[in-house]
This record gives sequence, structure tokens and C-alpha cells, in this order.
Amino acid sequence: MAQQNEAFKQLVSHCKEYGFIYQSSEIYDGLAAVYDYAPYGVLLKNNLKDYWWKSMVQLHENIVGIDAAILMHPKTWKASGHVDAFNDPLIDNKDSKKRYRVDHLIEGYCEKIEAKIDKDIAKARKKYGDAFDEAQFRATNGRIVDRQKRIDEVMARLTKVMGDGDMEGMKAMIEDLEIKDPETGSANWTDPRQFNLMFSTQLGNIAGEESKLYLRPETAQGIFVNFLNVQKTTRQKIPFGIAQIGKAFRNEIVARQFIFRMREFEQMEMQFFVPPGKEMEWYAYWKETRLKWHKALGHPAEKLRFHDHDNLAHYANAAVDIEFKFPFGFRELEGIHSRTDFDLTEHQKLSGRKLQYFDAELGESYVPYVVETSIGCDRMFLATMSHALQQEIVPDADGKDSTRMVLKLPPPIAPVKCAVLPLLKNKEALTTKARAIFNDLRFAFDCQYDEKDAIGRRYRRQDAIGTPYCVTVDFDTLEDDTVTLRDRDTLQQERIPISKIEEIVSERIDMRTLFE
Ligand code: ATP
Repeated sequence: MAQQNEAFKQLVSHCKEYGFIYQSSEIYDGLAAVYDYAPYGVLLKNNLKDYWWKSMVQLHENIVGIDAAILMHPKTWKASGHVDAFNDPLIDNKDSKKRYRVDHLIEGYCEKIEAKIDKDIAKARKKYGDAFDEAQFRATNGRIVDRQKRIDEVMARLTKVMGDGDMEGMKAMIEDLEIKDPETGSANWTDPRQFNLMFSTQLGNIAGEESKLYLRPETAQGIFVNFLNVQKTTRQKIPFGIAQIGKAFRNEIVARQFIFRMREFEQMEMQFFVPPGKEMEWYAYWKETRLKWHKALGHPAEKLRFHDHDNLAHYANAAVDIEFKFPFGFRELEGIHSRTDFDLTEHQKLSGRKLQYFDAELGESYVPYVVETSIGCDRMFLATMSHALQQEIVPDADGKDSTRMVLKLPPPIAPVKCAVLPLLKNKEALTTKARAIFNDLRFAFDCQYDEKDAIGRRYRRQDAIGTPYCVTVDFDTLEDDTVTLRDRDTLQQERIPISKIEEIVSERIDMRTLFE
């Protein structure tokens, strides 16, 4: 656990130190749970969005994209249920004045038990070596079986009280489990109460409920209200999907874990419209398709898992999370939800406008059912960074062992694709040549020119921001127009002609390599 926390701290400080993420309004001591993307961060984030957009829109003939406004008619949020039901249960500690989500406190109780199980497993693995069978150990070790049973009981009880919105039941759980304020150890709690997560604002200068607007808490509703516009203008036939990337806002009670839980964040959502009764087939399809997308980016199977929702939202008849193993444990990265016809039906009722599709094959009109895939761009960023950041021992220029921090991002999504480095700064022939190469390559992909410090240090700087290729211009270049191309991961250096750099690098950073 301590080791995991260390890894997470290192990741957060790497993000700041190397220009990926800054705290918002830092000079005013920051704004909690709001972050700014720094120069390399924005490049990486754009590449992740591009990877998502290409796979969803470009590679599916029956998925089209939109970019709806953040502000929507206030009735949207009444129809969607957000005004009445987009709540989290919160509880205050009277001594520390700290505020928590009740479900997070109870999950934290279970995570502590889980950590004990992990410790026993790690010990056993060390003892039995290759012969160790984790599944069997979990099923037969008495202590682990008891602990797992305890976790299952607590989680089942939590699911019930959360599902029922049972505030007294939540308080009883906090008391029965003797849950204390994680920061101060105090057990002096208020009663839990519901807290709506939407940010509100005013339209123009008119005060009052009439002109109250909300910053959208999800991008999906912009898709639902445009469903018929899109269908008609693009002549799509069901089944078809609408994709969107955009900002969403939630007044999260507890801001924690860096960009995992933000108050302003970005979602990449796709709503897939299907005939009633076909939603489970498509739900299964999108579950598998989305998991493949994560794996294609190089995230290993053991860091990804499905987690079925025990507690379905008011609009869903099936829901699953794709969880990723972040440095602080498995957490939701993406949600796949079968949203039934709830949203379209409610918008139809409240707007008085028909949101139906005429199915020529069936010869009838109906309100389609919807399967949604919804992923947080920032969580995807965090997952990708946490998997890519590694500390390694590698030989330095003198052949001695040295430690490097390297960001092993898949080349197609790396912020900078190629750095051009003259071997020495004060040899004009080298810098002129290197500059000329850089000025040409920058038209093809994101490039960087760097001449400051010794070459070894420059390689380390590029490793730390994940640049997959470095081109070095040396004295041989002046003779024969060749350069060395250094590979970030293998450290191999190949000698190639200048005329071939663009072709070789372009091939290796092509997003096609991920899709294939
Ligand atoms: P959680 O249970 O973690 O609060 P959620 O179930 O409310 O998440 P959804 O409403 O399903 O999340 O939103 C879809 C996706 O949007 C999530 O899978 C997550 O990646 C992202 N997301 C949701 N809330 C936040 C947030 N506050 N900060 C960053 N990303 C978020």
C-alpha cells in the first residue's frame, strides 16, 4: 500500500515537473479538484481523444459525431432526472469539519480488509514461488475466506441502503462498522444527507428559479435532444450511434486522487440507438469492443476488469464499469450502460415533441433503446500515464548503470514524436544541419529541437516526456547525410539517411499500428 502511494506521489509530481498537469489557479493556492493541462499534457490528451474519435467515428460507418453546447434548456435536466436524483450521500465530521461521501467511507473500510488479503497473498506468493495458485489460495485459506465474506456482506448492505436512499441505514452502517474520520480518527458524525452534484448559474441578469441554468453534468443529454436532427440530416438507419467529446461539471463532495475525480472534466461518450429488445445484444457487443480498445493501447489484461453494477441508475436495465488498476487500486475508468428508452421518452413527454424513429423494415415507429459507452478523458489520461511511467536502470554513455524515469507511451499518442539533437551545441555546422532537419520534420509530426546540455541529459529529458524517437546529428552526418535514430524503449541506435527519417518515424507513430 505504502509502495503504491509512493508510486502515485511520484506520478503526480512528474506530471507537474515535466509539464503535463498544473493545479488550477496555483498562484492563489489552487482551486480544489480543478486542473489545467500543461504543454505536454494537452498534446497527450488530444492524442487520446483522437484515438477514441477515430476508433468510434472514423472506423464506424454508422457512428457520427456532434459537439453540443454545455448550457442546455433547464427542462433537459428535469427530464433526465438530474434535478431530482443526481445526488450523493454526504456526511460531516463534527470535530474535524471534514465532509465525506458515505459510500466512500464504507468502501474505504472494505479496502482496508482487501489490503490485508493482498498482504497475505504476497507473502504466500513469495513462499511458494512458481507453484503458487492465487485462486486456490483465496478459496481455501481460512483467514482470507473470512475476510472476503466480511467484504461481501458489507458491500451487499451498502448496495441495499444506497439503492433505497436509506439515510438512517447509512448512518447505522457508519456506527456499526465504527468508521472514523480517516484524517483525524474522530467518530463524531452528523446524519447523512443527499447533496445534488449539479453546478447552477443564472441566465442573463434575471434572478430566480425561472432563469436557473446548469452546467451539464454529462454530455449525453446533448446527444439525446439532437437524436432526430442527427438521424434526419445524416440519413442514418437504426442501429446507429452519436459520439461526442466535451466538458462536464460535477460539484463532487470530496475531491481526491488528483485528476481521477475533478469538478470540471471531460467525457467521451457515445449513445448507440437500437430497436427495443435488441439492447442486450448491443450491450454485449460494446462491452467487448470497448475492452479491446483499452487493450489495443497496450494496457495489460491484468490491469483491466469488468465490474457489474449492483445498484442500477434510474435509467438503466444493465450497467458495467471497465475498471483500471490505478496506483490506488481498481477504480472505474469507463461505464457501459443500457439506458433503455428512458431519456428519449422523458424528453418526449416534457417537450411535447415526438422523438421516434420510423423503422421501414418493421413498418412501425418506436422510441429507440440506447446503449451508452462513457469514458472520462482525464481518467484515461491518468490510467495511461500511470501505466507508462517507469523507473529503470539502464547503461549511461560510459556504460555505467544509471536510473532513468521513462514514460513508455505508445508512440502514436506520445506528445512529442521525435526530438532532433545536434551532438554539440557550439559547433555551428551541427546545429545548422539539425535545425534544417527539425524545420522539415515539424510539418509531419510534433517535433522538438534541443541543444542544451550533454546529449545523455537530453535523452533523459525526452525519456521523461515519452518521446519515442531521437534523431542525433553528429560529425558523420556532415559527411554522409545520415543520422542516428534512437529508440526510447530499446535504446537501440540505427544509422539512417536523413531522407528516410520522416518515412520511418511516420510509419512507427501511425495510429493504424494500434487499430491493427
Ligand atoms: P464515479 O462513480 O467514479 O463517481 P460515475 O459512475 O458517476 O463515476 P459516470 O456518470 O458513469 O461516472 O460517468 C462516466 C465516466 O466519466 C466515468 O467512467 C469517469 O471516467 C468519468 N467521470 C465521472 N465523474 C468524473 C469526475 N468527477 N472526474 C473525472 N472523471 C469523471
